[in-house]
Amino acid sequence: MEICLWQDGVRDIVPSSADEEVGLPTDVDVAIVGAGYTGLWTAHYLNLVSPGTSILVIEANHVGFGASGRNGGWCSSILPMSLDRVADMSSREDAIRLQNLMYDTVDEVGRQAASLGIDCGYKKGGYLGAIRDDRQMAAARATFHEAETWGLAGDRVQLLDADTARQRLNASRIEGALFHPDCAAIQPYQLVTGLAGSLRDRGVTIAEHTTAFTLEPHLVRTSRGDVRTGRVIRATEAYSTRWKSERRRVVPLYSMMIATEPLDDSTWSTIGLSQRETFADLRRMVIYGQRTADGRIAFGGRGAPYHYASRISPGFDQHAPTKKALEATLRDLFPVLHDVATTHHWGGPLAAARDWTMSVGSEDGVLRGGAYVGDGVATSNLVGRILADLVAGRDSELTRVPFVGHRSRRWEPEPFRWIGINSLAALAKWSDTHRPGSKLAGRVVDSFLR
Ligand SMILES: Cc1cc2nc3c(=O)[nH]c(=O)nc-3n(C[C@H](O)[C@H](O)[C@H](O)COP(=O)(O)OP(=O)(O)OC[C@H]3O[C@@H](n4cnc5c(N)ncnc54)[C@H](O)[C@@H]3O)c2cc1C
Repeated sequence: MEICLWQDGVRDIVPSSADEEVGLPTDVDVAIVGAGYTGLWTAHYLNLVSPGTSILVIEANHVGFGASGRNGGWCSSILPMSLDRVADMSSREDAIRLQNLMYDTVDEVGRQAASLGIDCGYKKGGYLGAIRDDRQMAAARATFHEAETWGLAGDRVQLLDADTARQRLNASRIEGALFHPDCAAIQPYQLVTGLAGSLRDRGVTIAEHTTAFTLEPHLVRTSRGDVRTGRVIRATEAYSTRWKSERRRVVPLYSMMIATEPLDDSTWSTIGLSQRETFADLRRMVIYGQRTADGRIAFGGRGAPYHYASRISPGFDQHAPTKKALEATLRDLFPVLHDVATTHHWGGPLAAARDWTMSVGSEDGVLRGGAYVGDGVATSNLVGRILADLVAGRDSELTRVPFVGHRSRRWEPEPFRWIGINSLAALAKWSDTHRPGSKLAGRVVDSFLR
């Protein structure tokens, strides 16, 4: 079915239909554009510290329309950029502080969901990165060694031998695994819609089907009229590229997913994942999977084409060649799935800055946060807290993290962007093979991503 698993059968019962009738306020304290995790976590924390602040969330489609309602559901402590990069931006101590904040953020998402009564299937079973060939073994050793240098090996990153790894994740050709305990599996759409429901109950206005055209420091012009406001926050991540001024700030990269039918107990006892660990292997072209609360596998990967001039279109939400490749990869990982049907296929855009570094801050009087690449589920919660502090004018531990105020350099103009991104994606796929030259190709990809 060409629909996102997480929204299948759920969307109709989400109480969003009334929002079109909700009058658009013309004057509010804070206007947030975008009803994904970034916008809604910001509204949530602002409302917690200052319940009297009037908040309007403006959403062009429906709550969770973007990546927040479609993602792989890994609520992980992974940052899009390396700790070395963070240390270069600031200091080694700040990089460690940030990583510790991310470990806590994984728990914070669970704490907030529980306190708001949001049933999003949150299960912190950790993340298993399977090692399935020599190159992946070398990559795992390098990652583990790096973790040692940061003092994270042991508690936060473990290198499992083949037998231990196989007992947890019985993937073909498994030679070991990296295990990171700080990752939870969630049902992403239930988290974003649950958050929206809680905000509505607390008096926050969420205006769906309302497009923001221009954002100024104290004014948002929308398809339903102008809104005057004390502060404006842009929380539109990959969709920001639709504004001319934003076009080269990030690129929208498509990540695609499939889901299987629910698997029976005997299949699950073959595969493992008894703690609902999220899983991948250590290839360069990222893949990611989770055992869903209803016993399916939701499985995704990058590598779908980048579209010329950063175009985004509903027509790109499915991609037959990527779907086929994902099915083949999943069956290669778990041969027991040979006859299991794929029931859902979907995808969506996520934002990547030129230096693969997320950022939050103010530009031209408008606050913004994003560029999480594929790691936005937990990081957007941290950014929501930072944005709430920035709105409140609070100098806190959060407003001093190294990526606050960071500006990535702009992407190249077309056609160089299109040629560069699609060539690198092809190189990354190719470098996962063992053909002559693939090692060199891998080094080129790694040097770009560093
Ligand atoms: C297929 C897929 C899998 C992923 N898997 C993971 C994962 O497992 N773990 C992880 O950490 N991250 C993952 N990500 C990334 C993560 O989902 C995103 O980084 C995160 O959800 C971004 O949240 P956001 O609120 O900033 O943006 P979004 O959720 O994209 O929300 C932006 C919102 O802004 C609205 N908007 C845009 N323009 C306008 C306008 N002009 N006016 C009004 N509203 C507007 C959009 O309609 C949209 O609802 C994945 C992403 C994708 C696409």
